[in-house]
Amino acid sequence: MQAALRQHLGGARWALRVSEAALRPRCVGPASPPAPRCWSCGGALPSAEGLPHFCPGCRALQPPGPRPDLFRLMDCDRSFRLDVQRLQRRFRSLQRALHPDRFGQRPPEEQHYSEQHSSLVNKAYQTLLNPLSRGLYLLELNGVEPAQETDCDADSEFLMEIMEINEKLADSDTIAVNEILRSILKMKTQSSLCKLVIFYFISDDLQEAKKLLAKMKYFANLEDKLKNKKMPS
Ligand SMILES: [Zn+2]
Repeated sequence: MQAALRQHLGGARWALRVSEAALRPRCVGPASPPAPRCWSCGGALPSAEGLPHFCPGCRALQPPGPRPDLFRLMDCDRSFRLDVQRLQRRFRSLQRALHPDRFGQRPPEEQHYSEQHSSLVNKAYQTLLNPLSRGLYLLELNGVEPAQETDCDADSEFLMEIMEINEKLADSDTIAVNEILRSILKMKTQSSLCKLVIFYFISDDLQEAKKLLAKMKYFANLEDKLKNKKMPS
């Protein structure tokens, strides 16, 4: 009897929810995002597609977008091959335009946004300048899972090479030997590997590009190790 009552009440509650839902106004068609407005004067803003921009009405600096495309922000083509000079030019001009010192006399909101923009520009510059982080970011933009060092574990020849360099690094006790090791590592990552990564990105073979980036990670770790190595004085 009680079970039947519960069932009946449950059914009634369900019916109530359904009728409430039916009364709620329904959106028709795809929802279009509201037009962006200036945080300061409330005026409509033209679409800036994630780039740093000022309000055309009151000239207030607007906040950065939630997940800006770093290639777009730095005015570079979305590719592994990069025009470094162009990146540096853009970096300097954004740095000048958005530097917090320029906003010292402006409202606190704008000072805060200029700090946010500046740190974003620094992050974008560092990410795109370094071939390894640039490649990893490109993979992320293409929805490929991040490269792991274990991605190249099957390549025993490569692992032997890494082990040999590692041993030499551990044994080296002169600055001259360290310099040689440093130039070998630089050559490995910046010339041979980089060219291959460019090739695979151009051929749209992201999985091969990912394997090579995993190798680059190994070399980058060795470079760090070398950099932090304490030499006997
Ligand atoms: Zn405004």
